[in-house]
Amino acid sequence: MVGVFQTPLDADTIKAKARALGADLVGIADGAVMDAHPPDPRDPRRPKDITEHDGGRVIVLAKRYSAGTTRIARWDERHKYYNDELVLTMLEETSLELVFWLEDNGYPAIIIPPTHADPWLYRGDRNQHMTTVLSLTHAAVEAGLGTLGLNLQLITPEFGPRVLVTAVMCSVDCETDGRREEALCLGPECGRCLTACPGDVVGHWERDWPACDSYRSPHGFSQLAGHLGDILEAPDDAARLDMIRSETSFNLWQSILRGAGVISGCRRCQDVCPVGEDYARMIGDSLEEIPEATPEKARRLAAMAEAEARGALPGSYAGQERWIGALGYLGSDAAE
Ligand code: SF4
Ligand code: SF4
Repeated sequence: MVGVFQTPLDADTIKAKARALGADLVGIADGAVMDAHPPDPRDPRRPKDITEHDGGRVIVLAKRYSAGTTRIARWDERHKYYNDELVLTMLEETSLELVFWLEDNGYPAIIIPPTHADPWLYRGDRNQHMTTVLSLTHAAVEAGLGTLGLNLQLITPEFGPRVLVTAVMCSVDCETDGRREEALCLGPECGRCLTACPGDVVGHWERDWPACDSYRSPHGFSQLAGHLGDILEAPDDAARLDMIRSETSFNLWQSILRGAGVISGCRRCQDVCPVGEDYARMIGDSLEEIPEATPEKARRLAAMAEAEARGALPGSYAGQERWIGALGYLGSDAAE
């Protein structure tokens, strides 16, 4: 019985420790509540699917991106990839330090990183969208950190969507945080995430995830498998050598070296979102204009806003309502 060796810990103590270790935001979700409310019942990915012992609490940690990189408007800017990868490295180290501190206090703990997908679920399609073993954005909502936006990105009051998230699972008997009931997202009347998206993959409370992946992870597994296949199918040795020495190989090599361009990539939708205390203070002046805007995108957003105004919310909203929240901007009648 590990209980004999445990030091009592409350939520405030755990959060103060996580902040001291470098986290910007911390929330604690109830693992049993997450077990009861999987974001996708066809692919539940619940805490209890990972561990039957140590999923009682899901401590969600968030670290903000640097504002300097957010102010760069190009989605495929490698400085952004590298800076974001360093933020992730810091957050992972913070998570690991928290795990060892919890274990020093008698509570076995486990990190859920944002980069690990279950390889048993890979079906041989290099363009298959691979998800994390636990949805960290949904965990963050359950931990009270924010709500999901029009493209299902996590939005926080402090930094909008401009955060990276990890979780530490641990069965420590402490208080949990409640979900926000009202959406932080401003809906299609804002729609800046859709307007700025270089792949045009944002829908009405949904996103084409496989299409997004080629931007979110531009030098990831899909490009690697495609490039190796192209090399094998090249007509002769000279063409093969050219491809081995190509810029694509160079980008892949650099990305495999550090993960930049693999686990970090496009985040235009996060950059331009006006929600977050940081936006006016650090960002807004540089990202007001959106070069990716088109009349067709504007028409689509107007149609979404018009449908919502007459109470016609899409099925994609209904399926994620718990995590998106009530659409206060519609008024109480239309949002119900
Ligand atoms: S990450 Fe990039 S491609 Fe994906 S939804 Fe956001 S802006 Fe679009
Ligand atoms: S950019 Fe606008 S529509 Fe998109 S998530 Fe942010 S608030 Fe919502």
